[in-house]
Amino acid sequence: MTKCDILIVGGGPAGLSAAYSAARKNARTILLEKDDSIAQNIRTSGVSWIDDMKRLEIPEKYYNPIKNFRIISPSKDVILRGNTPKSCVLDVRATYQYLATLAAREGAEISVRSEVQSVISRSNKIAGIVANTPKGKIEFDSKLVIDASGFNSIVARRAGIVHNWKRYGIGAEYECYCDDIDPETWILMVGDRYSDAGYAWIFPISKQRVRIGTGVGRPESNSDPIEKLNSIIESKLKPIDELRNIQPIEFHYGFIPNEGSRKATIFDGLLLVGDSAGQANPLVLEGIRFAIEFGRVAGEIGANSLLKDCTRESLQEYEKFWKQRVSSRIKSSLKVQSRWLKMNNESWDREVEIIQQMTIEEFLDFIKAQFTTSKLVKLVLTHPRATARQLFSIILDK
Ligand SMILES: Cc1cc2nc3c(=O)[nH]c(=O)nc-3n(C[C@H](O)[C@H](O)[C@H](O)COP(=O)(O)OP(=O)(O)OC[C@H]3O[C@@H](n4cnc5c(N)ncnc54)[C@H](O)[C@@H]3O)c2cc1C
Repeated sequence: MTKCDILIVGGGPAGLSAAYSAARKNARTILLEKDDSIAQNIRTSGVSWIDDMKRLEIPEKYYNPIKNFRIISPSKDVILRGNTPKSCVLDVRATYQYLATLAAREGAEISVRSEVQSVISRSNKIAGIVANTPKGKIEFDSKLVIDASGFNSIVARRAGIVHNWKRYGIGAEYECYCDDIDPETWILMVGDRYSDAGYAWIFPISKQRVRIGTGVGRPESNSDPIEKLNSIIESKLKPIDELRNIQPIEFHYGFIPNEGSRKATIFDGLLLVGDSAGQANPLVLEGIRFAIEFGRVAGEIGANSLLKDCTRESLQEYEKFWKQRVSSRIKSSLKVQSRWLKMNNESWDREVEIIQQMTIEEFLDFIKAQFTTSKLVKLVLTHPRATARQLFSIILDK
């Protein structure tokens, strides 16, 4: 048996960030990752926002800055041009390994190829887990378990505390060499040629390297995103035709919950963070920045709770913090998303027309789900376009 204060399951951005801040507070911290290396299997497209990356102190060398946003629907092709880069596409493997280095430097122990098998409970409290590791089957006895296992929520599910996600997105993506692409522009493609419940994307990492992918939402769609992606590339649908020679170098595949957050993310001896807790922005299903931020808060509050036996009560500050930050945004995004999931090709064309009428700042607030009530009220009352006023009033109507 191995004893520790905090055991973290999952070496994604949430788990690695929790390991960093827990170890920084001198908690004996162990992180288990089932894959052979951190970020071995990439399950994300890595788009994020420069101001968030700066706030979270992710060095600039780990991302490609993006200035312009192009959106293609069946008969529209719109580009919103910015003066300065606001978005970015992460070098996902390098960023996650950097997060691992930060955690290790603070004293966290990281165990790769270590997969959770079962959960140990004592007197209705989570008390540890059993995992297969390169050193054999080990029982980890810990005061707090942080479930950062992503879509699987493996610890909470094995403990019978949470259900499987009913609504979720599945994405398939090739990271490719291509002859030439504008590295400052990312592209979203909507309409049933690209996805029957979701969208497709082209996210550049450099002038000759891009991620091309598509996602579908369950239960709305039964289609296979891999088949869809192959057909988009093989039939050279716009704007794939502009990229000329495209050669896949990596394949990425992943699942993301898409029904809002879990109602409860703290229990006696257990805390959920990142996708395991459903903390991503459901509008475009982006969650890396939230996973890093809430991971750090989870590790810190988790370490503080050691003095109080890691009871649910002692973890409340964590749940209060993240709910205050994102709950209302998640609700607004779900409303826009349910509108999007019902759209046919003509309504997508109309939606893209509305987006074209937004300023770049309005578009970024919209896509980041970053509206405050006062901003929304102003837009509903004063936006020069009636259709845009209508869209903002849907978001406002809580
Ligand atoms: C196709 C796709 C594209 C996306 N694109 C974007 C994007 O562009 N921008 C963005 O911000 N977000 C994006 N997301 C969402 C983003 O990837 C997640 O919100 C984010 O990765 C959540 O981080 P996490 O640490 O909670 O979970 P994860 O990154 O999923 O990490 C969980 C870790 O737990 C490990 N694990 C799982 N089970 C076990 C087990 N039994 N034992 C031990 N370890 C285990 C996994 O191997 C994994 O390393 C995308 C998601 C998908 C599916």
